[in-house]
Amino acid sequence: MSTIELTNLTKQFGALTAVNAIDLDVGAGEVVCLLGPSGCGKTTTLRMIAGLESATSGEVRIGGQRVNELSPRARNVSMVFQFYALYPTLSVAENLAYPLHAERLPPPEIAVRVRRVSEILHLDEVQHRLPGQLAEGEKQRVAVGRAIIRDPSCFLFDEPLSRLDVQLRETMRGQIKEVLAGLSRATVIVTHDQLEALTMADRIAVMRDGRIEQFASPHDIFARPANLFVAGFIGTPQMNLLPATFIGRDGGTGRFRAGGQEVAMAIDGAALSADDPVTLGVRPRSLHLVSEARADTLSAVVDLIEPMGAETLLHLVDGGQALRVVVDHRSEPAVGERVHVAFRPEQTHVFDRLERRMT
Ligand code: ATP
Repeated sequence: MSTIELTNLTKQFGALTAVNAIDLDVGAGEVVCLLGPSGCGKTTTLRMIAGLESATSGEVRIGGQRVNELSPRARNVSMVFQFYALYPTLSVAENLAYPLHAERLPPPEIAVRVRRVSEILHLDEVQHRLPGQLAEGEKQRVAVGRAIIRDPSCFLFDEPLSRLDVQLRETMRGQIKEVLAGLSRATVIVTHDQLEALTMADRIAVMRDGRIEQFASPHDIFARPANLFVAGFIGTPQMNLLPATFIGRDGGTGRFRAGGQEVAMAIDGAALSADDPVTLGVRPRSLHLVSEARADTLSAVVDLIEPMGAETLLHLVDGGQALRVVVDHRSEPAVGERVHVAFRPEQTHVFDRLERRMT
């Protein structure tokens, strides 16, 4: 069974704790993305799974077996790096076959597997070319092909698409996901690109400073961020995070003071007391303009208009408070105009003083 389990896994480089007591499990056939800002410990985690880095403490299990003491080769993982090292003097077919020669497979079996992988990755037409005669996307597909041609215990990808241009990335995301779906292997992908994680992962582990801040499905990470960090890190344009004070409740609706204004928002059963400091979180697409001020609106002045194709991103200000709102480009107001912004109640969040999401 192809699974990966990390328990209390820690890596220290001298005084620096690069990975801090993380727990993570990846099921057979599951794709997990490690996502986070530069230096948060993603690559170190991946290298500990591969056996390229030893763990300071904690355990790595692959297929249910502890592998901490095993060499990278004995772990039988397949790794694809950002810098795909293809052999420049070998053809595509020979590059694909290389890992199988190393395993001393019989030539007819090698030929069958090369044909199958070439088909899956649409490399039939370029089989006889050298890497120098390939486009970037083709090179990347050969690198993926070399990883999947063996029968590894799991797949590990380190920023696999970061060298490709935007359009190619989009195509490759879909293609890699499709290929992985047919292989029933546990897969871990390291990326700092949230779109890559949101589209390719079954679950995402959002990391910060060596810790996992949230480990959940892309939908949950987006719709129910565990804390302020995840809320601010995921989603473009970034979620509005407004410092506010709780005033009181009226059934399931809470009243808050944000900047110099009062606004009502759904709070369900959140345990709040008067004067509690909170942060209100609302995505720019969960706000809309209304014609006049109401209990559930904030008013602000249009400071900047940023066209985004069919949509427009409005930057609003009121006193020291900034607010971003996405509107249809046909209904955009003018710079300097005062507008009223309403919250969609089911799409707002309240974070407590410890930055955890309450609603
Ligand atoms: P990036 O997205 O920039 O690759 P990352 O999330 O993959 O970042 P890591 O490469 O895992 O981060 O690094 C985590 C921390 O550990 C960083 O502060 C890094 O400088 C440090 N680090 C990584 N490798 C070593 C090493 N061999 N010796 C000392 N410190 C290291």
